[in-house]
Amino acid sequence: MIKKRFKITTLILLVLLCLFCFVSACTAQENREGIMVIKVKQQKMALTAKSGGTDTILNGEIVYKISETKRGIVYELNSLNMTGTSINVKDGASGPISIILKPKTARSTYDLKKRVIQSEFIATVHYPLIDQLKGYIKPKEGEREIDEFRSYTETFSGSLICALSESPRIGTTGKIKTAAIVFKTEVKEAVLGEIVNVSGKMTVLDVQVIFPPFYFKKVINIQPVFVRYTPETGCFGGTTKATTGGSYNTLKENAMKMWNRCCLGLNFLPPAYIDNNDYRILSSTEEANLMATYNNANAVEVFFVEVGDPVGLHGGGVCYSGGTANTKIITYDTNLPINLYNLAHELGHALNLSHPPGNSTPGSLMEPSGFCADNPALMSNQNCDNASNPLFYYVLTTKKCTRNINMP
Ligand SMILES: [Zn+2]
Repeated sequence: MIKKRFKITTLILLVLLCLFCFVSACTAQENREGIMVIKVKQQKMALTAKSGGTDTILNGEIVYKISETKRGIVYELNSLNMTGTSINVKDGASGPISIILKPKTARSTYDLKKRVIQSEFIATVHYPLIDQLKGYIKPKEGEREIDEFRSYTETFSGSLICALSESPRIGTTGKIKTAAIVFKTEVKEAVLGEIVNVSGKMTVLDVQVIFPPFYFKKVINIQPVFVRYTPETGCFGGTTKATTGGSYNTLKENAMKMWNRCCLGLNFLPPAYIDNNDYRILSSTEEANLMATYNNANAVEVFFVEVGDPVGLHGGGVCYSGGTANTKIITYDTNLPINLYNLAHELGHALNLSHPPGNSTPGSLMEPSGFCADNPALMSNQNCDNASNPLFYYVLTTKKCTRNINMP
């Protein structure tokens, strides 16, 4: 009898032990997946142009996913966002260079002894000279809102060798002293082919390893630009200065709300102002001139004008060169009180999303609107997954963000 009871007790204890092991293994597993964010120093990098050797000043972040598996520690190159300063070529200045990892193209291996991660990848490259000489990919005919002027981009192949000065402690958030990086990328499919390759050793500014209960947030800077003008008529016509941007607060709050559903942060910078009576009401021929008046290399510029000329020119606004560091948006104050989500929608284009059914979801925020029609306030997993721009940077946070999408 005693023997039997002993057996049952042992059995119960064993079951409880197994259950405990299972639960703790699951929790431990979650704590063993993290990321490593490498901020590179703003630095000169050798660039071979079609017209000869030169250099560009490169700036950006490299992000690896770290996980501990039965086979050991696995590093995956998860993001590579780089921008380079303009170079001079035969046809003029290239304009700022965008280099961004093409999703799911990277293959990485890790040498535990040498602490070296080697990756091969495909990158999408853009510089504004492409837009100037080739124009934009034409918006689809018959669309309600012709508001998306996508750039032609070049495809580069690349390799990245990253030697860590020490091994990160799996499950622990902290910094690694340094990393030695060798970066190489060369053109594979050209549009202009002005840039042949970019390569060199990268000096690292900071190597941050992040494991729960610490998290990261992807953030992008937004630069609002308002137009100052002198109204010709009205009580103070011809004397008092006025500015566009009356729709700013409402459009900004709604844009932040929508992209926060994807856990993507929009960091709005203090507004900049340009003085020009002509840009208050904007025709399509004035758009390029307006956009040339202000450039922040680290932000998406959003120009607020009162209205397009003709009214309804692009629906509620327009985005040029989406998905690149050179992307710029024009939005109309006359979106209010009808279209509260126009800026959120145009920012979707700036984050590389097209109208559905391209790489966004039918019926969502990325659905085009007509004049006086709202872009839907609906966000999907597909929109969140495909949102990308080389200007995104990673911020350490203690807040775990979970997506809060409101459509399937
Ligand atoms: Zn659109």
